[in-house]
Amino acid sequence: MREFCGLLSKEVKNFFEEVGEKPFRARQLFDWVYQKGVMDYEKMLNLPQSLRVTLSDAMQLGLLHLEKVELSEDQETKKFLWKLADERFVESVLILSGERRTVCVSSQVGCPARCAFCASGKEGIIRNLSAAEIVEQVVKINHHLMQEGERVSHLVFMGMGEPLENYEEVVRALKILMDPELLGFSPRKITVSTVGVVPNIKRLMEEGLKVNLALSLHAPNQHIRKKVVPYARKFPFEEVLKSARDYAKFTKRDLTYEYVLLEGINDTAENAQELAALLKHEQCTVNLIPYNPVEGLKLRRPSNEKIDLFYSILSKQGVRTTRRYTKGKDIAAACGQLALKKKNPLEIEAKSV
Ligand code: SF4
Repeated sequence: MREFCGLLSKEVKNFFEEVGEKPFRARQLFDWVYQKGVMDYEKMLNLPQSLRVTLSDAMQLGLLHLEKVELSEDQETKKFLWKLADERFVESVLILSGERRTVCVSSQVGCPARCAFCASGKEGIIRNLSAAEIVEQVVKINHHLMQEGERVSHLVFMGMGEPLENYEEVVRALKILMDPELLGFSPRKITVSTVGVVPNIKRLMEEGLKVNLALSLHAPNQHIRKKVVPYARKFPFEEVLKSARDYAKFTKRDLTYEYVLLEGINDTAENAQELAALLKHEQCTVNLIPYNPVEGLKLRRPSNEKIDLFYSILSKQGVRTTRRYTKGKDIAAACGQLALKKKNPLEIEAKSV
């Protein structure tokens, strides 16, 4: 059976044509799902009963079941835990910052990249999410916000998983999220983050979607990067950097470099100088992310003085640098902390979105 949220508007319309339904019926269906967040055909009362039966036989809707929502102490981050049809779990994070309502989307259950500081990659990859499972995270959180008169404004593919290792489904999800008849996100409001899967950065560039790219660099050279990002063995530093720069040039989008600061590994003044020399002539942003503790990992966060020094070395050399204020630390929703701590659904309190 097809998954409704994994279909583009034209594919749904083709289906309606095949079953002899008028195109306006498809638009009614889009309105129910994408504007009203309704995930049950039986509740779509302006659709004829016979069509509702046809749809339930042909297209699955509502693949994610909300198990839990956690709100951070500062009330600025919400973490959503979803149960999938195969009893796996996945998370999304909603970050409330000024006017922005950003959803951090997961693209896989687990992650093959196994970055040293990350909880999501600790157990490796379990499976890819389908495009529909990716899109539904956004639809459901959008509906959650709509109840308070708000909407999702930005999307970042920085949750669990390496998006470019689930290329087909992620690209399909991007097209659906940008489809003007569905959610209609501008590519400027979407960022795909990668550790640097070189062939798929090239494919994404050729796809012409022009979403923003964030490269998880985490080191000023290959020697250090290998310690933090095991994928560096597969795709060396220079190659990764070149493909990301080619992407930026071709799409005319500025790159973001993510840099998780880890004490004693990549946080010295020398490291900052080397990074500045590498990036100072480039139109880009470096996003410094002081490490968030993850249970079972021995890594440490640098002192505030070291973080400040690293920041000022980059800034003084003209590299646009932001220091990410760590949101959602108390609910393990911060970068690198997404992991499925609770495996037993009975421990989890369900709330409705
Ligand atoms: S930081 Fe991202 S790419 Fe690296 S292991 Fe974690 S989820 Fe995967």
